[in-house]
Amino acid sequence: MSGSKSSPDWVARHIAGLPRSGIRDFFDLVEGMDDVISLGIGEPDFVTPWNVREAAIYAIKRGQTSYTSNLGYIGLRREICRYVEEHFGPAYAPERECIVTVGVSEALDLILRAVLNPGDEVIYHEPCYVSYAPSITMAHAVPRPVVTHLEDDFTLRPEAVEAAITPRTRVLLLNFPNNPTGAGLTAEAKEQLAEVARRHNLLVISDEIYEELSYEARSPSLAALPGMRERTVLLNGFSKADAMTGFRIGYACGPQTLIEAMMRVHQYSMLCASSIAQAAALEAMRHGQRARDEMRLEYEQRRNVIVRRLNDMGLTCFKPRGAFYAFPCIRSTGLNSRDFAQRLLQQQKVALVPGTAFGACGEGFVRCSYATAMDDIEEAMVRTKAFLESL
Ligand code: PMP
Repeated sequence: MSGSKSSPDWVARHIAGLPRSGIRDFFDLVEGMDDVISLGIGEPDFVTPWNVREAAIYAIKRGQTSYTSNLGYIGLRREICRYVEEHFGPAYAPERECIVTVGVSEALDLILRAVLNPGDEVIYHEPCYVSYAPSITMAHAVPRPVVTHLEDDFTLRPEAVEAAITPRTRVLLLNFPNNPTGAGLTAEAKEQLAEVARRHNLLVISDEIYEELSYEARSPSLAALPGMRERTVLLNGFSKADAMTGFRIGYACGPQTLIEAMMRVHQYSMLCASSIAQAAALEAMRHGQRARDEMRLEYEQRRNVIVRRLNDMGLTCFKPRGAFYAFPCIRSTGLNSRDFAQRLLQQQKVALVPGTAFGACGEGFVRCSYATAMDDIEEAMVRTKAFLESL
């Protein structure tokens, strides 16, 4: 719609059409309420390990406050490539196959803008991270979600991907371990998806931000499978496993031509990621493994408790293979996701996110983050049970 003379319509159509985040929407309700236990937030409750914070302080003290290379500090890129190779990824050259970004958020935006032409289609799976569809739309491309199901442990079926492919499909965007379901991909599923990508000449963007928070046996990244290195961009970052959300550091590894294309967008938009945050990330790469292991163990214990409690009270819940979210089915209550979340909040002051925030197929589910202290999880479960009994 064009605006009236007095009030021109400045906002671009594809931006005006973006939906409000379902999470933001719901948390407007939470604001101003006291004594709410929140299982809503998708970020670690751990404070960033002290040695990492100290590295940031020390960077400021010694005046490490200038622009860095567009790609990021070479020392950090070397550590990232070493880490990726050690953690089931392929070997990447730090000089030309790795870029440091402002979170995985920027890395995702860069690769989408770098490869998509208007009207190209991107296949991804739903339920998924809230920013996928909007990020694709902002790159003037078309989001093509493929539904995943509780009955399949929310994994992605290769035949469902294949059925969604059209002549305009260019990219397959994957996120395993998954936000919000906690689903993972078995080695066999990865092989099958790689085969589909090769056969249809798709670029794979693999968002592996929760890879370090895997509770099951790990298998090589899709990028490491035969014929996949040249058609995969691997995204990861420091927000989740290193409890560094506010530092805003992520990275992408991939073939030189794609990293170079991402760099072109990055140099004219962001220029570089914060020098101070990069110094902190370097410390996390060099000395952060113990803290990561400790946090993962704690999340795993919380996962075991929350999944058992939810299933015991009749809310069928798949046991997440990774990340820090449980995604129970609430259909047995007869309520839809939004009403369930709203009434639980009003009656028992427990905040969680309606599954529909992660795609229409999230109806009948809610997301509970267990990046929350164990005592709060226990209390939230007591309150949720009381809520169910009141229905
Ligand atoms: N991908 C997924 C799947 C996520 O859940 C998140 C954060 N919730 C991001 C990317 C963005 O992370 P970052 O803080 O690195 O931008």
